[in-house]
Amino acid sequence: MTLNQQEELINKIAQDKIDFDFGVQLLLDNNYSFEQLFRTLHFYIFNSIPNKSDYNSEVYQMALNTIPLKPTYTPIVILKHFSTKIAFNKLASLPENENRKTIISLLWIFKITDTERRNTECKNGCGHFWHELD
Ligand SMILES: [Zn+2]
Repeated sequence: MTLNQQEELINKIAQDKIDFDFGVQLLLDNNYSFEQLFRTLHFYIFNSIPNKSDYNSEVYQMALNTIPLKPTYTPIVILKHFSTKIAFNKLASLPENENRKTIISLLWIFKITDTERRNTECKNGCGHFWHELD
């Protein structure tokens, strides 16, 4: 999967044009690069969160609390206990067996924060080309 295909897929998942679990499978099931996917999702999430001073908006908290994984999994515990920037640094250096859970968590967070953004500041039209996918 090229970076563009990956980005398109992430946006389609966020926009409910592809089922979340199926999208996760597509993203993770063909020799994916954790570093690349992590970097993309990190960038997307930070861009979609409304409050850039501490990144700790209501929608971000809501996203953390609805991640469809056990809340005791390490990536979720980290996300809930540290400020956003510190949490992301910690996630990047977890052992490989946490990678899948990390990506699922981040993809979910982006889906929620991007949906909120589409329903608010993007509602009356925006220049984001990725919000105009077929
Ligand atoms: Zn937009």
